[in-house]
Amino acid sequence: NERTLAMIKPCTSGRAAEVIAEIEAAGFVVCAKKEHQMSVPQASEFYAEHDGKEFFKGLVDFMTSGPVVALLLEKPNAIKEWRALMGPTATSKAKEEAPDSLRAKYGTDNTKNATHGSDSFVSAAREAAFWFGGPVLA
Ligand code: ATP
Ligand code: MG
Repeated sequence: NERTLAMIKPCTSGRAAEVIAEIEAAGFVVCAKKEHQMSVPQASEFYAEHDGKEFFKGLVDFMTSGPVVALLLEKPNAIKEWRALMGPTATSKAKEEAPDSLRAKYGTDNTKNATHGSDSFVSAAREAAFWFGGPVLA
């Protein structure tokens, strides 16, 4: 089994129970869950890889606009499987190419795309430690 870090973003955190039910129906085990309103420094640190890009300020504004629900998810091949369940980053592309994906169903535009998922084992380790502390993927 593998673990990955997911977030239900502020646009969708009001429907977290519904989204978590879909996540569990897809075979993921929710190992840990934390609802938190991120500060600007926290969101900037979390998305540091995007610092300097044109969408960075909008992304940080959005991610601090309400609570997020962070989830530690477990399943065989969890990192890849979770990104598949989310669908493409841009909601418009998700609706066209993966209509059953979470971003197609819950996303509203290319920033407000409902969910986050770690993109690699290294990211998953960093992001899981960011939310839940310690070497939780070990
Ligand atoms: P995430 O990291 O949130 O799981 P991702 O890995 O699919 O998404 P990234 O390239 O890491 O996509 O972008 C991080 C987030 O920044 C996206 O999920 C989206 O909310 C926002 N974003 C990315 N690209 C754009 C863009 N071109 N315009 C507006 N927002 C964007
Ligand atoms: Mg990413």
